[in-house]
Order: sequence, then structure tokens, then C-alpha cells
Amino acid sequence: MSVRKKPQLFEKVLIANRGEIALRVQRACREMGIKTVAIHSEADKDAKYVRLADESVCIGPPAPDLSYLNIPAIIAAAEVTDAQAIHPGYGFLSENADFAEKVESSGFVFIGPKPETIRMMGDKINAKAVMQKAGMPCVPGSEGSLPEEPKEIVRIAKEVGYPIIIKAAGGGGGRGMRVVNTEAALLPAVLLTRTEAKNAFGNPTVYLERFLDTPRHIEIQVLADAYKNAIWLSDRDCSLQRRHQKIIEEAPAVNIPARILTRIGDRCAEACRKIGYRGAGTFEFLYQDGEFFFIEMNTRIQVEHPVTEEITGIDLVQEQIKIAAGRRLQIRQRDIVRRGHAIECRINAEDAETFTPSPGRITFYHAPGGPGIRVDSHVYNNYFVPPQYDSMIGKIIAYGDTRDQAIARMLVALSEMAVDGIKTNISLHQQLLLDENFVRGDFSIHYIEERMKQLKSD
Ligand code: ADP
Repeated sequence: MSVRKKPQLFEKVLIANRGEIALRVQRACREMGIKTVAIHSEADKDAKYVRLADESVCIGPPAPDLSYLNIPAIIAAAEVTDAQAIHPGYGFLSENADFAEKVESSGFVFIGPKPETIRMMGDKINAKAVMQKAGMPCVPGSEGSLPEEPKEIVRIAKEVGYPIIIKAAGGGGGRGMRVVNTEAALLPAVLLTRTEAKNAFGNPTVYLERFLDTPRHIEIQVLADAYKNAIWLSDRDCSLQRRHQKIIEEAPAVNIPARILTRIGDRCAEACRKIGYRGAGTFEFLYQDGEFFFIEMNTRIQVEHPVTEEITGIDLVQEQIKIAAGRRLQIRQRDIVRRGHAIECRINAEDAETFTPSPGRITFYHAPGGPGIRVDSHVYNNYFVPPQYDSMIGKIIAYGDTRDQAIARMLVALSEMAVDGIKTNISLHQQLLLDENFVRGDFSIHYIEERMKQLKSD
């Protein structure tokens, strides 16, 4: 019998990101004995994870275009440090197919899916068509892009039924979407979305779908290797959002029968095999009245990945690295045991009511701890939160045997946490975790905004 030799892991990985995810990836590498290269802008030169890295390279001034989005500078940093692979984290260049292609054509391994997969999923019309073909339920809507002919647009919208949502094929980050309630508002809205999409994403293509009034955002985490082995790890509920930005996430989703989740999870794994997906990925769905509707696929690690790690015991970043090194998945679907409940609160440097960013110096910092508490954060006493980047300064993840225990632990953690000198959204989390509807698991993606409106009118 021949013994198959496992491909070697990398000796050195360059982490093309900043903040908590740069630290998260660094920790995964160090634990695996892999050396790390931190790249950083001038604004992040003092960050602790930069100092903890084996090597660091300053790639430019604070403006993201000149640093974390600067492809030639990042490739040059990998060349001078002899890194073998590049981990893109989330945001920045993580879903940029041109970057993935450039990484590979420069002789490095991109820790993520193939560039063509990223490109396919980056166009939402394309992604929907591919998924529909792979047997995934999608939100009813126009088949492909909207035609130019106004009469045709009116006919399609009527057939789908109002309210509808017009979406840009190239949209992302909650931008490039418009809800339309009546036929009278349809054509001007299509025109406006097209113009905005052309300006923002360089692609005026739009499509439409039915606007669901009270859906939950439920997603499925998958892992697939380069040999068409694919598994799904857990579902996550990310319904608590503001302006389509997630604030609290949890796993598993409450009040959805396990057999329904298993069915959709199995379909996601099957879709991965069909499209030859490689790496970690997330299928995002809207869930309403017992039905799942696919909306998009994220081809990278997500901010909320720790809740899945907590209930499955699987390190997703390490799995990403092993897959990129050409190893086969060692975990089979039947090995996955989901135990307990995990909740994540995103701690943002912002005003808890107005959501205005609040960068600046943290004069005193104290992180919570205790049973079931995990803090993924790159900040520390006297850390300066730069104004140029996303306002998230870290995440608290609370694990419990039950959802009630996870909530109770999170509340204790939030009360222990101290972040002085800047404003944070800790008080918003405290209110939400005590909210009756949240505790009952009775909420949709519109919940936070409805609640804020109600508070204002009271
Ligand atoms: P993005 O790529 O910008 O994140 P998505 O397609 O993932 O865009 O949608 C983001 C959010 O917009 C969803 O989580 C949901 O809150 C809302 N949304 C998208 N499509 C619909 C729909 N058909 N009905 C209701 N809400 C929707």
C-alpha cells in the first residue's frame, strides 16, 4: 500500500490586511509554525501585531488606495521577504479576482479560491445563475440583467410582484440597491441605480428581485479542498444589521429546525463540488416563512467566522492555509459535531446612537475574560484608532452550552470591557442582548432600524 505524503505547509505567509484579522491570521500561522510577514501602512506602523510578526514591510501612506489596496506594493513585499503564500483576510483585496490572479502569476499561492471563482461570484447575476443551475433556491426575480426597453422592465416587475429591490450586478457592501413599492416609481429607480452602479462599480448592469419584508439573514459556512471534497460546518444568523452592516451574529440560528438547516447545508456542500470551489466560503441566504433564498456567496473568511469555530472546534483559518497548501480536507461531514451556542458582538469605535465613527487614542483598555469568552482584537492600552479604516476595533465571542448561557456570559463580558478615550457601541450591544425580541429569537434584518425609529418616537 502506498502512503500518500501530505504536501508541506508554507514556511512563510504574507498577511495582506490589517487590524484584528491580521492578528487572527498571524496567530493561526504561528500556531502552525509558519513565519509571518506583516504589511502595514504608515498609520499602522506601531500596531502590536506588526511587531509580533517575523518581518514587516511598510507598503505606503495611510490612504487604503495607496497601501492595503496597492497590488504592486504588496507583491513587491512578498518578493523581498520570500513569502510563499498570501492571505488576504476580509475586505480590501480579498475578493478582487485581479489581485488573486496577480498573486498566482507572480509565483505565490493565494490563500483563497481560484481567481475565476472569485470573478464568477463577484458578479451577482452570474452567481445567482450558477447557483440556480446547481439547484440552489434563489429569490424570484428577473432572469439575468434588466433589458433597456422600458415596457419590458415594467412587465418583468409586474410578474415578480411589488415590492421589488433593484440591485447592481457589481454591487457589494450593502451599496447599489434600491427598493421600489409601486410601478410609478419603477423606471426612475432603475435609471438612478444604473447611473449609481456605473459610477461606483464601473458596471451599469442591474437586475431586480422580490423584496422580502421580514427575512432573516442566514448563512452557511463551507470548506472545500482542491479535490472536490466539500463540507458545511454550521449556519449563522446575521440578521441584526444596520445599513446592511452586521452587528451581532450567532450560531446556530434560533427557531429554525435542524433538518431544514441540514438540507440547505448539504446543498451548499454539493454546490461547492459542482462548481469546483476551493477554500473557505459562505453562502448567504434570506430566510422567510420556512424558505431559504440564496442572495450571494462570499469567497473569503468572514468577520463572523469565530462563532462557527466555537461551536465546531474547527480552526477555519488553519483549514484555509492547509487547503491552499494542497492538502486534502481531513474532516468529513459526519465528523462535524455542533455543540452549544456562540454569539459575536462587533465592537466598533463609533457613537452608539448616531453610528458616527469615533477614531482616536484609547486611553485605557481592559478586555473581558472568563469561561466561554474569546476576544479577537488588535487594540491595547494607548492604541490609536486611525480614522482611515473601518471602525471595528475587535469582537467579543461568547460561548455557552445554551443560547441563554451565551447571552448571560456576553452581558458579563460587555460590563467588564473598558475602552476609554473614544466612543464605542458597547451600550447598543447591551440593550440588544436584553431586548425581549432578541432573547426570544423573534427578529428580522429590519429589526435594529425599526427599533431605533421606535425609540426616537417614544
Ligand atoms: P451586498 O453584496 O451589498 O452585501 P447582498 O445581496 O448580500 O448585498 O444584500 C445585503 C443585504 O440587503 C441583505 O443582508 C439584506 O439585508 C438586504 N437584501 C438583499 N436582497 C434583499 C431582498 N430581495 N429582500 C429584502 N432584503 C434584501
